[in-house]
Amino acid sequence: MEKEVKQTKVGVNYFEVTLHEMITKLNGFGICDSCSTPMTNGYLVPILNYVQCDKCFKDSGVQNNCYEEDKEYEEHQTMLYKQALEK
Ligand SMILES: [Zn+2]
Repeated sequence: MEKEVKQTKVGVNYFEVTLHEMITKLNGFGICDSCSTPMTNGYLVPILNYVQCDKCFKDSGVQNNCYEEDKEYEEHQTMLYKQALEK
């Protein structure tokens, strides 16, 4: 299934992921990488290699910084995660 790449208002890529996707496709545990809170859905931010909960994602630097110098790395990471999520 096609997985949609979304962007924050400053253009940082992210995916909305479910607990099921975190466990089966990302080898995760459904725990926020920033605050360790268990979550049922989260935000995968390829450039940070983080899955964050609602609160941490809203407070995250990706809402205000677009990491322009890392665009190439971001695109690469986004592609890898997209492939993993679409498996
Ligand atoms: Zn969190």
